[in-house]
Formats: sequence, C-alpha cells, structure tokens
Amino acid sequence: MTDLLTRTIKFDATRKAGLERLDSFVPFAGTTYRTERNFDYGPANRSNVSALSPWVRHRLLTEQEICDRVMQDFALSSTEKFIQEVFWRTYWKGWLEMRPSVWSIYETDRMAALKRTQTNANMRRDYTAAIEGNTGIDCLDAWAKELVETGYLHNHARMWFASIWMFTLRLDWTLGADFFLRHLMDADAASNTLSWRWVGGLQTKGKHYLARASNIRKFTDGRFDPQGLTENAGPLPDDFAFDKPVPPEPPTPLPLGKKAMLLITEDDCTVEQLNFGAIEICSIATWNLSDLRSPLQIGDAASDFTTRALANAASRACEKLGGNATAFTGNDAIENMVTAASDAGAECLIVPFTAQGWARAPMNQLAAKCRERGIAFCEIQRNWDIEAWPHATKGFFPFKEKIPQLMLTAGFDIKGKR
Ligand SMILES: Cc1cc2nc3c(=O)[nH]c(=O)nc-3n(C[C@H](O)[C@H](O)[C@H](O)COP(=O)(O)OP(=O)(O)OC[C@H]3O[C@@H](n4cnc5c(N)ncnc54)[C@H](O)[C@@H]3O)c2cc1C
Repeated sequence: MTDLLTRTIKFDATRKAGLERLDSFVPFAGTTYRTERNFDYGPANRSNVSALSPWVRHRLLTEQEICDRVMQDFALSSTEKFIQEVFWRTYWKGWLEMRPSVWSIYETDRMAALKRTQTNANMRRDYTAAIEGNTGIDCLDAWAKELVETGYLHNHARMWFASIWMFTLRLDWTLGADFFLRHLMDADAASNTLSWRWVGGLQTKGKHYLARASNIRKFTDGRFDPQGLTENAGPLPDDFAFDKPVPPEPPTPLPLGKKAMLLITEDDCTVEQLNFGAIEICSIATWNLSDLRSPLQIGDAASDFTTRALANAASRACEKLGGNATAFTGNDAIENMVTAASDAGAECLIVPFTAQGWARAPMNQLAAKCRERGIAFCEIQRNWDIEAWPHATKGFFPFKEKIPQLMLTAGFDIKGKR
C-alpha cells in the first residue's frame, strides 16, 4: 500500500483542484490502481483510487483530459484497468441516452415507492433506519453516515451497500438509488440508476451481485464484520423488456455568425474549451437544476459541490469570453432566462449537451420556450460522446473492445511511454 498519494481529499469544486488531484494520482494509475482499487480503507485514506468522480461528473475535468494525463506517463496496456473504469461512465451515459424510458420508469417507480413509505409504517421504519444508519449492520450504518457527511463512497462500498439494501433489508431499489442521488457529489443519472439495476440483476438480466461478509471484512481491511447478511438470494424479479436502443441524433450544426447566450449546466463546467465557431457570445448564464435530482431534499455536500462547480465554470468562462454571468436556479427560471437572452440581444441560446436524467425535460422545455420567442436553441456535444455513445448498445464487454479504437480516434498514441 502506497503512502505517497494524499490520503484525505478536499473535494474543492474547482477545475484547479481537480487538475491537482489528477496530477497527484497519475503515478498510481498503473499497478497500484489495478491491484489495490477494490480496497475501501475508509474516508481517511483514499490513496488507492482517484476520487476524481465529482470533478469528472461535472466535467470540471473531462474524460479526455484524464486519459490524456495518464497516457503521458503510461502505455494503454499498463493503465488499462483505470482507463476502462473511466470508460464505464461513458458507457453508462451512452446506454441510457439510447433508452430514455429506463430513466422515466425509474422516476415513476421511485415516486410510487416514496408514497408507500408514507402509507406503510413498516416500510417507513425500515427505510428510515437504513438512511439514518440505524440497521445494526455495521458497514451499512457507517456507509449511510459517511455518504451523508462526505458526499462520496468508494465503488466497492456502493456495490455492497446496494446489495445489502436490496437483498438483506429487502428495500425498494429505487429508494436506495434516490438516497445516493441526493447525497453523492458525483450524482449521475446514468451511472447511478444503471449500477443499482446491475447490482439487483435487472441490467444484465438474471445476473446480480451479492455482498458477502468475508469479502467485506477483507476489502475493508477488517474495519467491518457485518452479521446477518443474506448471502443467498435470486435476482430481483423483472418483467421489463428494454426498448430497442435508439441511436443518438446527430448534433445540430451551430448557426453562423449569430449572437448567443451561453448557458452552463452541471453537465459541463469547462465550456471555455468548446468551439463556438463564428458565434459571438454576448451573455453568459448558469442554470442549477440539482434540486430536481429527487423529490426529497438534496444533501449539503452534493448541493454545495454543484453550486460551486457552476460558479467556478462561470468565472472561467467570463475570464475567457468577457462579461459577467447570471445565475439561474430551478424549473421556474425558464421564462426569466429567455427574457435575459432576449434583453442581451441574443439570437441563439447555446448549451452543452444535456444527457438523459433530471435535467433533460427542463432543457426540452427551455428549447421550446426559446423557439416560441424566436431564439434558436443549440446544444454542443463533445466528440468524446459523439464517438463513443453509439457503441453502448449491448453489455460493457463488447463496448470495452472498442476502447483502443476510440482512443485512437480521440488522438491518443495508445503505445504511450511505458
Ligand atoms: C450502486 C452504485 C451507484 C453508483 N452511482 C454513481 C453515481 O451516481 N455517479 C458516479 O459518477 N458514479 C457512480 N457509481 C460508479 C462508481 O462507484 C464511481 O464512479 C466511483 O466510485 C467514483 O470513485 P473514484 O473517482 O475514486 O473512482 P476510480 O476507481 O478512481 O475510477 C476512475 C473514474 O472512472 C469512473 N468510474 C469508475 N468506476 C465506475 C463505474 N462503476 N461506473 C461509472 N464510472 C466509473 C469514474 O468517473 C471515476 O472517477 C456507482 C456505482 C454503484 C455500484
């Protein structure tokens, strides 16, 4: 176990802090990551994983930049495991993008489950005990508290947590996924929903993940000794047939030579990298929709990270493009945003592409309102997504086979340095 990488992390929602964490992690992205990444040493020691997910989820750092930095020091073969993990995020996003009904059904089922916690006293008691960390299962109780306090959980802890939630506590999976979305700083509709489904056996049909006490003892370095886990159970029952994947629409070309308002969202907080062609940015705004992650209250760590990430993105965008940014929050802001664009003389509103999830429907409403008021609406998609998402039609294994080709297309020398 290495002691060289910073053990405790300050999750500062700035691009600078993300780049610093990336730099300090890179020397460990080869053998150390491959052999030690499954250990959860606890919040006081995150020296064996990158902990970059809050930054990359908000694109304060991009997937391309992470791979770029790692590939400066490693050949793809030496850091393959880490690069593959980075591509898991891309894969899940592409998969959900092509099957939007999986998200809308999740939202409907979650609302029904939340209503049942109001009407069914036993369910309310069990659910409350789980989210407050009062079940008596030592690891789950500690992770529930860690999640609320810190806004981050190790990947293995997320898998064990979800499994115990579904198979030992027999709680509805959508409530667990909602608890994660409310508190994770990296809350992501695709990675979260599809990972919960995967643990439950709904994603890879019939294949589920069962948390075992011996595995938890080993990979938490003996910090936990959970009792009473259900180590034998079948996958969750499922009569849901996936829709046929619908390939993503090709990106709309940017209009030529128009004045535009640039809108920054939590999906992309490094907009100064985007190519606006001949468009003149005459106004900048941010739109914070993080409260829509759940019908319930969003946790402080998660909420603060997004608010600060947007402020940081806006200040960098203003530095590069000039002007000041206006901050908008929530669904009710649509009318005011379009008025602000119109007052600034914008003929077009430009926004980085919004992936499937809680922000997609409000973004569609904004697009409709813009058109109603004679303002063009345009989303800019990153090449990384355009190239990779169409390959997320089946499981991760066939997608993984495409990674070297995707890396080549993205301009990487995949033989690298060592
Ligand atoms: C039940 C469950 C819920 C999850 N919910 C989310 C979520 O809401 N948001 C989220 O970003 N991730 C989610 N994950 C995926 C994963 O746990 C986190 O991305 C990872 O733990 C982040 O920590 P890290 O940056 O230290 O990861 P590292 O191990 O250092 O990995 C490097 C990067 O690869 C990506 N990555 C790694 N593992 C995964 C994975 N399994 N799926 C997708 N991307 C991955 C992340 O961008 C991560 O920053 C979930 C996993 C499970 C099992």
